[in-house]
Amino acid sequence: MIPLTSHFLAITPIVAMSKNLLVPLFIGGEWIEVRGLPTTAVHNPSTGDLIAETPVCGADIVDQAVRAASRAYPSWMETPPVERARILMKLKVLLETHFEELAQLVTRENGKTLGEARGDVRRGLESIEFACGAPTLLMGESLENVARGIDCDSIRQPLGVVAGIAPFNFPAMVPLWMWPMAVACGNTFVLKPSEKVPITSIRIAELAQKAGLPDGVLNLVHGGREAVDAILRHPAIEAISFVGSTPVAKYIFQTGTAHGKRVQAAGGAKNFILVMPDADVTHSAAGLAESAFGCAGQRCMAGSTAIVIGAAADIVLPALVDVVANIRVGATDRDPQAQMGAVISREHANRVGDLITQATDQGAKPLTDGRLTRVSSAPKGFYVGPTVLDHVLPDMVTMKEEVFGPVLNVVRMEDLGAAIELANDSAYGNGAAIFTQSGKAAREFRHRIQAGMIGVNIGVPAPLAFFPFSGMSQSFFGDLHLQGRESVHFFTRQKVTTSRWFGHGENSIWAEI
Ligand code: NAD
Repeated sequence: MIPLTSHFLAITPIVAMSKNLLVPLFIGGEWIEVRGLPTTAVHNPSTGDLIAETPVCGADIVDQAVRAASRAYPSWMETPPVERARILMKLKVLLETHFEELAQLVTRENGKTLGEARGDVRRGLESIEFACGAPTLLMGESLENVARGIDCDSIRQPLGVVAGIAPFNFPAMVPLWMWPMAVACGNTFVLKPSEKVPITSIRIAELAQKAGLPDGVLNLVHGGREAVDAILRHPAIEAISFVGSTPVAKYIFQTGTAHGKRVQAAGGAKNFILVMPDADVTHSAAGLAESAFGCAGQRCMAGSTAIVIGAAADIVLPALVDVVANIRVGATDRDPQAQMGAVISREHANRVGDLITQATDQGAKPLTDGRLTRVSSAPKGFYVGPTVLDHVLPDMVTMKEEVFGPVLNVVRMEDLGAAIELANDSAYGNGAAIFTQSGKAAREFRHRIQAGMIGVNIGVPAPLAFFPFSGMSQSFFGDLHLQGRESVHFFTRQKVTTSRWFGHGENSIWAEI
């Protein structure tokens, strides 16, 4: 076992980390550096510079985090919901105060533009705002006189220790989908951020501590599969919230539920955007470009395939190419004009480039080709430029695999029905959108499309915090989604009490009247 108490940080974790790069753990309210473990390198994608080392934690460290969360649980679950919410309100104020700093951290470790990073933090903040409503959201139901003199009511209680496992692409938002609502409901939490972007979570946990979150209510461990496996098998963890790629989501769901845990696992996506011949040209071209190339295509809601219907091809594609050709790719941490940043790693940039090559070998015609993109001010950054592939066919590699990079397939079709069928053939079911001016077409699309989040003249229809993030098919495993009331239900269980007080009710004053 690693002696975790051996080295506490005397200065703030984020400052300590900037000096020696090692990402600390946060267990039982203590910031802990563990030396001697293998580490994963964290790079600034814009420059390729090494900016941190994430320790690869194993089962012993996960166990210590779970023990700290278990110790904190009895007192936290007894804390009135309104007091728990007040701490989150203080955290919300602190995050607003440190908003720009957090956005810069996101940009630095993820590579997205500052504007996109602000959106990432803002969406996370909205989840905290929603969690501040927990006292109302936790209220149960009651009915007097379910039978004469008998009443029935339900209450919601927390589960205990719960855990979250997050992906790299939204370093602020996705962890904040998970732990604020969980702790607002009275649970204590073990978070494993992505080993590729651990720094934002460190800073937010630091601010949560400052807001008064008691020791052990939120704990952070780091690493990859080993830490995840320990979470999946730990007997004291009641529920797991996961967001990441589909193969891992499926594994998390199967293994977690086999170990008796409640699991919500959001997976990958291939989102279709249909463009009808009557679509507004300017808005649909801009919407397609924003959906496919925002966050360098590393969004689970990214439009990865445009199905252009009939004459839309001749009108919208030239406008799209015009928009895409003017996207400025750059080092987002130093170039405020950059409209698109790097992808997460050198390996990922190479993989995206290889997939473009395979698709062109299969007959796809590049209208713009991101393999050629270079950023002269940052020659070691992980860049792939925005790529539009025309004349893509359903069996080509970029249609089958989640590319998760700045690549947009264009498929040309003749009618709406066939386009919906093609989209519904996809194994995934996260988002889908239609650009049209026809209410009839939009209604038919919404009725028939097999996707959980639908946009009408909106390219990235990601629901706000008070609605569920409602993927389906291979994009989601479980019953209760992240966000919205479903998240309250996920992090609580119900008790229903049926009560009778003898001598009252059956012979009450009402019976005499
Ligand atoms: P990923 O699946 O590689 O990693 C996600 C988490 O799982 C990380 O914390 C990682 O450490 C862990 N992990 C990775 N491989 C593992 C393994 N073999 N066993 C156990 N744990 C493992 O995902 P990523 O690359 O970080 O993120 C991108 C993916 O996330 C994309 O597929 C994207 O579509 C998806 N995503 C989905 C949503 C959604 O709401 N559906 C939201 C954001 C991202």
